[in-house]
Amino acid sequence: MSKNATAAMVECFSSIQGEGILVGMRQAFLRFSGCNLSCAFCDTPGMTAPPAACQLEITPGRRDFIEVPNPLCFSRVLTLIESWTAGWPGIHHSISITGGEPLLHGAFLAEWLPQLRKLLPIHLETNGTLPAVLKPLMPHLDYVAMDIKLPSASGCEGLWDDHREFLRIASAAKAFVKVVIDQTTEDWEIQRACEIIAGIDRAIPLILQPVTLNDGTIPMSPLRMLEFQELAGQLKEVRVIPQTHKFMGQL
Ligand code: SF4
Repeated sequence: MSKNATAAMVECFSSIQGEGILVGMRQAFLRFSGCNLSCAFCDTPGMTAPPAACQLEITPGRRDFIEVPNPLCFSRVLTLIESWTAGWPGIHHSISITGGEPLLHGAFLAEWLPQLRKLLPIHLETNGTLPAVLKPLMPHLDYVAMDIKLPSASGCEGLWDDHREFLRIASAAKAFVKVVIDQTTEDWEIQRACEIIAGIDRAIPLILQPVTLNDGTIPMSPLRMLEFQELAGQLKEVRVIPQTHKFMGQL
């Protein structure tokens, strides 16, 4: 594979990370198309079929997008990020590799990540279900933000074993777990997620992320958030953080 390798992408843009332990940090986001799950709360475009074109932001954070036909050539992405780091040095903390599920593009990432990592640290956002794809990429990752999908909120069943194996591998980097919660979430689900994390390392941060609507409202009882945080007391670091980009008007 070479710089001419291609992948179906949705968008490349600069924004403020709205979730997880890097909340508030400025990142370059590379969003890949496609996902192996279909969560009930999914609001990410371009997951069922690749869009005809990828939206590329020319000036970081200025939303001056151009359309580039899919699949996108890696050299186009590399040139864009190089122009950002050269023209606006120091504004980005890291590159967020996101989706969809970016690990569906594992072969491409194996080629891309070493070159991108020369520019900025790499932050992988993943649904945490493809451990065999993650493993060979670990040497190229600085942060791994993985989900543990609860059957209640996501509608996804039977993922516990994949999540456990995934976190075991991811824990070699700065890994943390995001669990989306809503009014249907049950206590046993939080306890099971915590057992998985504690079985690997109690110090791995857990982010409880209440479902956040596009207008920024959170349709969940504040008391339930507190109760879930208390249920996770066996872990050393449990934070409740909604999707803050939605009420900041960020992408
Ligand atoms: S894993 Fe993420 S992108 Fe995939 S369906 Fe679930 S919410 Fe959407």
